[in-house]
Amino acid sequence: MDGRIADIWGTRTPFAPGEAWPIRVDTQLEPGIEESSVTWVKSACVLCSNGCGLDIAVSDGRIVGVRGRADDRVNHGRLGPKGLYGWQANNASDRLTTPLVRRNGSLEPASWDEALGLVVERSQALLAERGPLALGFYNSGQLFLEEYYTLALLVRGGIGTPHLDANTRLCTATADAALKETFGCDGDPGSIADIDLCDTLFLVGHNVAETQTVLWMRILDRLDGPDPPRLVVVDPRRTNVARRATVHLPIKSGTNLVLLNAIQHELIADGRIDQEFVRTSTVGFDRLRETVERYPPERAAEICGVPAEDIRAAARVIGEAERLVSTCLQGVYQAHQATASAVQINNVNLLRGMIGKPGCAPFQMNGQPTSQNTREAGADGDLGGVRNWQNPAHVEELARLWNVEPLAIPHWGPPTHAMQIFRYAEEGSIRFLWVIGTNPAVSLPDLGRARSILSQERLFLVVSDAFLNETGELADVVLPTALWGEKTGAFTNYDRTVHLSDKAVDPPGEARADFDVFLEYARRLELRDRDGAPLVKWTTPEECFDAFREMTRGRLCDYSGLSHERLRGSDGIQWPCNDLNPEGTERLYTDRVFPTSVDECEDYGHDFLTGAARERKDFTELAPGGRAILHGVEHVPLPEPPSGDLPLRLTTGRTVYHWHTRTKTGRVQELDAAAPDVWVELAPADATALGIGEGDVVRVESARGAIEGRARLSGIRPGVVFVPFHYGAWRSSEQDGRERAANELTLLAWDPVSKQPLVKSGAVRVAKLADSQGVPAPAPATTASEPVASAVSGGCP
Ligand code: SF4
Repeated sequence: MDGRIADIWGTRTPFAPGEAWPIRVDTQLEPGIEESSVTWVKSACVLCSNGCGLDIAVSDGRIVGVRGRADDRVNHGRLGPKGLYGWQANNASDRLTTPLVRRNGSLEPASWDEALGLVVERSQALLAERGPLALGFYNSGQLFLEEYYTLALLVRGGIGTPHLDANTRLCTATADAALKETFGCDGDPGSIADIDLCDTLFLVGHNVAETQTVLWMRILDRLDGPDPPRLVVVDPRRTNVARRATVHLPIKSGTNLVLLNAIQHELIADGRIDQEFVRTSTVGFDRLRETVERYPPERAAEICGVPAEDIRAAARVIGEAERLVSTCLQGVYQAHQATASAVQINNVNLLRGMIGKPGCAPFQMNGQPTSQNTREAGADGDLGGVRNWQNPAHVEELARLWNVEPLAIPHWGPPTHAMQIFRYAEEGSIRFLWVIGTNPAVSLPDLGRARSILSQERLFLVVSDAFLNETGELADVVLPTALWGEKTGAFTNYDRTVHLSDKAVDPPGEARADFDVFLEYARRLELRDRDGAPLVKWTTPEECFDAFREMTRGRLCDYSGLSHERLRGSDGIQWPCNDLNPEGTERLYTDRVFPTSVDECEDYGHDFLTGAARERKDFTELAPGGRAILHGVEHVPLPEPPSGDLPLRLTTGRTVYHWHTRTKTGRVQELDAAAPDVWVELAPADATALGIGEGDVVRVESARGAIEGRARLSGIRPGVVFVPFHYGAWRSSEQDGRERAANELTLLAWDPVSKQPLVKSGAVRVAKLADSQGVPAPAPATTASEPVASAVSGGCP
């Protein structure tokens, strides 16, 4: 391991609060290539939600490297390991270069005409025989805005099925839900610049050091500069973030809500709330206070497994903050009571009146790079332009923009969430499933079941991807797609910064951009508007963007002041960008007015325990009318607590070196070598009790399945087992009969509000299979999975 693989965050450039984050330009080029000899094409990184601005280096029609953009507002030139090395996946020798169709049980090369012909033929046959509900679409958080919008139009406005969702369901559905529940509408209120100004950071289930490496560089530079912020960190693992914490709370996984209730209990008891803000700008305080009164630190300590004094210490730090940034990510979103917990993060900042001001914001972080656009375009379980499917006026607006009848847009119930789409496929009502840019045969929970659904004879499975992944292996038709750098499109990161990524090179062979495939599919299906004209009016990404910005005009996510040309000349612009805010908008809600009027809001909210959707009349009675909504929610027991012969808590997660199911990063030598195979992380106390040492081969078993891997003894909380979720079996060396995918173990359960699967839940047992023979676990030693022998000197308080 060397270079920026070992030195993940690079050299420090400390800065003081309010100063500009110093520029540091990170560059990675193929050996032998000089900066002066390449053509630079403007883009941004699509390997996490930070969305760092970069230039793509092109030589002889190939991508040969990247360089961080010095002026970009997000990264000031920096790139992390995935950004620096990940582009090499574009040049991988096993890219799909031609469509594949299944003949006599095997996937064989075919022409686009034949492959797309089969897709259209099956679509038309099912539409005629069974109607639109026989078709389902499961896409991604990694396409471009224009692709999502085209897909949303053709599926919702053309085919007329509600069965359209994305793998954002596994990733940021809870962020979306929590923003809607509290503020009435999707969209993070804060700015990345709030990191430069805050005096306190409260990070819950957010291993920012590995999931958003460049954001952690910014935080590290604050921590190493004058007047550093204090850090409160909630994570059962001893992450690099936890090692820098003022207070680290390594709670039992699944107990976020209890801890957050206790912290609010303390804030209220100590009078650390902004009474005036709460009175004038929120509703729901009385119920919240009554709820959290039942969660004194002593009760929380018992449930969460951390000392009451530490909870008090954390609450004190948060209560003393004058500029507080709170964040959460998958440690909340993929865990028990996900949305109920995520809204408590919003509550904390609202109680403290710390929103809409410099250095003050709650962040419901995103995971995938373009998941914000999946949501805004309506290619997941939302309607485009953050519209409310229960509001007839919103549906009519969309129908007018698309020139279709309002009834043509399915809105008799909520758009179908991914877990339900797979259920319908299992039960046989969905007979056609198009999987686009994602790999559910590795990423869905309870993989045994997922595979059996995807392998059904009666299900016509179409997979669009750049590589033949585990899902593609089960498909009837595989369509080879262009990757980032091989197509043009816009995307938006978690702080609403929009970038344009220009096409730098041609895709290999016959691979095509998803955008072009969707256009051709719509054309062949002869999808029409209500006047009989073609439904999809655009032919280029730029024309699509222009239609999208009109669709967002007047909505919170207003792109009406943006265009491809404007973005091409920018260093990232935050929406809303319109006539009122021509340069974009750094922070939402500076006027303390939230989009919670009944006619404006994107959602009327839910019951947090049952998931029951509130109706317009319920929301009218609540009458938030421009105020944010505080939510008090009771803790309920875990769906599958550890007990008996499954005594350990499972948590799954990610490492800095890989992205999702390694479809791209597994093909990059440097990244792959840094984390080449699955491992099983155990606390030394648990390992000793089980007779397990570092590197021993172990079997992890749940009620659903089992995996095998080498043990890593790390600083994880005793009683918790961590397995990275990236690994599957697309490589021939991995087809050795040994299961590696963490989702073999995970529970088929989801959050009642966001419908996000609880893949950080479930009970397991671990047993030793074989001695290490001196071979350590294939886990990085540079990250949260650092072996315990060196971790003990890490200085965790
Ligand atoms: S932090 Fe995220 S967006 Fe930035 S370079 Fe790393 S992977 Fe790419």
